[in-house]
Amino acid sequence: MLNLFPGFKLKSNTRNFNLMYEQLKDNNISCPVCNSKAFKKTGKPEIEDKSLGFIRHNYFVAECSACNYYFVYPPIDFSIQEWNKLYGDSYFPQMTAWHKKQRVVDAKKRLDWIKSNCNFEIKNFLDVGCGEGLALVEADSRGWSAEGIDITDNRIEPAKKDGIKFINADLISSRFPGEYFDCAYMDSVLEHLTDPVAYLIELNRILKRNGVVYIGVPNEDSLFNIVKRILYNLTGKKNISSKIKPFMLPYHVGGFNKKSIIKIAQVTNFEVAATHNFASRFEFRKYKPSAKGFWLHLFLLPVDLLAIILRREAYYEALLKKQ
Ligand SMILES: [Zn+2]
Repeated sequence: MLNLFPGFKLKSNTRNFNLMYEQLKDNNISCPVCNSKAFKKTGKPEIEDKSLGFIRHNYFVAECSACNYYFVYPPIDFSIQEWNKLYGDSYFPQMTAWHKKQRVVDAKKRLDWIKSNCNFEIKNFLDVGCGEGLALVEADSRGWSAEGIDITDNRIEPAKKDGIKFINADLISSRFPGEYFDCAYMDSVLEHLTDPVAYLIELNRILKRNGVVYIGVPNEDSLFNIVKRILYNLTGKKNISSKIKPFMLPYHVGGFNKKSIIKIAQVTNFEVAATHNFASRFEFRKYKPSAKGFWLHLFLLPVDLLAIILRREAYYEALLKKQ
């Protein structure tokens, strides 16, 4: 690198930072979505204390140059017991009363959105990674046959009633019957999977013809992430990725934008029936005033409002239809 200030030694981490944004090609690394071998390093992931025992490699966050999917390299190889430990009791943080109420409203809105984009009756509904089971309760109240699957059981009491089935397992090993479900639901799940393509291929197998998958994922191209990058650069965290945070709650190991959602639909034989860019309004209300998140999101409220105009809001939802 050209040193414009002779006698002023460049810091080595400045050089490394610039290297991160070079286009790289490595035959040992391929995009989990489209298999391209060209990628960019976006930086190193942040690590919280709880995850320290899980760090076995010198991880970095990569962006696929072909489809813009973000992923962790080397791939994470935690055992099911280790995932269970991460997604255990402490996974759902203490929620404010507003947040709890909002989550019920959101589940209803999402099922309304699915229904408005389907021209058939939904009978068999599967919630993959059902978590607390809010969508199961909502589906059951509509007379749909609701079934949930999750590697941990964090269900709230109303999701434990007789009419709602639950399997404590992962989707791939469960071997549901082929062409059985009308609708599969994956809200805030795809970004937690090291192999999202395998999950969508399995869902394609167990859905009826014209059946649909709802996916809800964070939008990695959000204005919030762009502002985060600027703040990191200003606060000495230049080598930290502003994208997915695999080793910090909520442990996202993959990241999507509209382009990579369309690509993953294409490689798993789905048609994109609808997409929607949105964000939770008044994000700061999810936190108590004693939490850092409350003040951060209150401070960034103008960013959230500008994101609506720029169509760079924090989440994407998509409805994929089996071809
Ligand atoms: Zn790709």
